[in-house]
Amino acid sequence: MNLILLGPPGAGKGTQAKRIVEAFKLVQLSTGDMLRAEVAKRSEIGRQAAAIMKAGLLVPDEMIDNLMDSRLDQEDCRNGFILDGFPRTLPQAAALDGMLTKKNMALDAVLPIQVDDEAMVQRISGRYTCAKCGEGYHDTFKRPKVAGVCDVCGAHEFTRRDDDKAETVRARLKAYHAQTEPIISYYRKRGIVHNIDGMLSIDGVTEQVMAALKEHVGAA
Ligand code: AMP
Repeated sequence: MNLILLGPPGAGKGTQAKRIVEAFKLVQLSTGDMLRAEVAKRSEIGRQAAAIMKAGLLVPDEMIDNLMDSRLDQEDCRNGFILDGFPRTLPQAAALDGMLTKKNMALDAVLPIQVDDEAMVQRISGRYTCAKCGEGYHDTFKRPKVAGVCDVCGAHEFTRRDDDKAETVRARLKAYHAQTEPIISYYRKRGIVHNIDGMLSIDGVTEQVMAALKEHVGAA
């Protein structure tokens, strides 16, 4: 089963993707994570992407298309994948179609997670993660049980993403509406879009996602 999760920053794509990965044994391909790894490695791509990401803008299509094209060639994608953060523009969606045809792969479902913009600003600007195990926390919605100590691994170090400041989040939301939202109608014409209400609880959203995917279970 090959899926795309769409939705503005903070919609819960990462959280839902992890649950879908577990339930269906797919691989999660997050272009944001791939780019952050390139930035950490200080590679050429990382150097070019860092300032763009910090401003909340989108990196050039060609850069991201090449990253995705080679990632999809890896063996683990053969059993199914979930795209989280790609495609984000119509040209990326067209490039993805070309890649999939060439690799003899197809998309089964596209799940746009729909949410309210201002709620997203509040959600994202409070989030942070454990620097050791990556467990996610939030200033308002999910604090560690003991202040300053990770519930999962006991570490004391936490990190916040550079682009999770309220002002940058607004720029990222703007980029989503202008450049990514049009992709939904691109896929709707093929009848593979299932709308998801992202304003429900995390479990409520997962329930909808699982219901939408039921008909695709068992697909290659
Ligand atoms: P994310 O973790 O998906 O929110 O991505 C973080 C940042 O990485 C975005 O704000 C963009 O600057 C960049 N990025 C991630 N995926 C893409 C993409 N498909 N196209 C362009 N830029 C991207």
